[in-house]
Amino acid sequence: MPNVAAQIERIYRDVVHRNPGELEFHQAVKEVIESLVPVLRKHPHYAEHRIIERICEPERQIIFRVPWQDDAGQVQINRGFRVQFNSALGPYKGGLRFHPSVYLGIVKFLGFEQIFKNAVTGMPIGGAKGGSDFDPKGRSDGEVMRFCQSFMTELHRHIGEYTDVPAGDIGVGAREIGYLFGQYKRLTNRYESATLTGKSPTWGGALVRREATGYGVAFFLDEMLQARGESLDGKTCVVSGSGNVAVYAIEKIHELGGKVVACSDSDGVIHHKAGIDLDTLKQLKEVERRRIKDYVDIHRDAEYHPGACIWHVPCDVAVPCATQNELDGEAAKRLVANGCRAVAEGANMPTNPEGIKVFQDAGVAYGPGKAANAGGVSTSALEMQQNASRDAWSFDFTERRLREIMKEIHRSCYETAEEYGSPGNYVLGANIVGFTRVAEPMVAFGVI
Ligand code: GLU
Repeated sequence: MPNVAAQIERIYRDVVHRNPGELEFHQAVKEVIESLVPVLRKHPHYAEHRIIERICEPERQIIFRVPWQDDAGQVQINRGFRVQFNSALGPYKGGLRFHPSVYLGIVKFLGFEQIFKNAVTGMPIGGAKGGSDFDPKGRSDGEVMRFCQSFMTELHRHIGEYTDVPAGDIGVGAREIGYLFGQYKRLTNRYESATLTGKSPTWGGALVRREATGYGVAFFLDEMLQARGESLDGKTCVVSGSGNVAVYAIEKIHELGGKVVACSDSDGVIHHKAGIDLDTLKQLKEVERRRIKDYVDIHRDAEYHPGACIWHVPCDVAVPCATQNELDGEAAKRLVANGCRAVAEGANMPTNPEGIKVFQDAGVAYGPGKAANAGGVSTSALEMQQNASRDAWSFDFTERRLREIMKEIHRSCYETAEEYGSPGNYVLGANIVGFTRVAEPMVAFGVI
């Protein structure tokens, strides 16, 4: 019997060696493949077919120049990426991120996570991610439009309904998807709705897609708490971020009886003991595109703490919805000391490895992003279904489908963790479910 743990360690060292400097990618790979030791013991043929090694190598990586003109007439140059990671289960699927921190290592960590997340949803979609180091902050609509048109002028040759279906992520919402789709349609002379998801419902988008990631996190939380004989009712919650995922996580947590007392942006934290007022937050963020510090001008009883750490606010439930590695070991210790009992990740990889260990050792119900935030991409797959059948579903029907999908994701991760002897370990459950669903077709397709 080969030493499986040593084999996995060798694969990890090889990934680090082949992808120098891509720290977030290394971190994402390590977290997944460490969970796979019991799978390789049970299914030695996955090792013979070198499935893990193949999954760690993207099928295709595209890097391109994105030149555009700003409002002053200056030429600006950004870098565009699309990493098509794995298409064993369906066309590549995953969002685009526009943020100055974007480089190949970020796109690869997100694309790698997306393979497993998409598999966990049970929908027929492969994994990809893309984006640019373009910073939309402070840019006019015209500048964003010209950037998106230039980005799509290259990207359009690599995507399509049966090839690769991008969507949004940080910095890419319905406005950007509109500009991207418009340019795609113009260049190809084809109205192929299912080439992009996260479209506006006025021209082929799914109702609930905007809300789906946040709602899905709240549904997943509810399932985790129910599995422990508890519920969200009366729980004090802290939700980091104030983007699309955070806003709709707050909305659904409130509907399910929880009270969210804090949210944040990259400048600071709003602490509102009476509960975050969602109408104010939506007005500030979605309509006026302002910073959350302005919230206290409207709610005098709320506090704004510039540069503060949101995880110092005491809560029963923490929901990180901002960005990768926003919650470290120290923050996790503080949350546990303050009585936090459940964590569900709306962002991708927001808790670092030390933080995850603190939660697991303390018996906190910890739902990793690739299970807890899979509602967004699931609803993208529902959008593709509607586009393929030229249909449009109602809000209530779509939300019911989302709820069922989140319930099923929870059930499969929970039962798999139990089957592999680690009850309650959703990290292990999600990684194993995702991996085996991708490994099976890879074996069937032969060496490709
Ligand atoms: N960017 C989202 C995610 O992290 C959504 C991707 C999609 O809808 O394709 O899952």
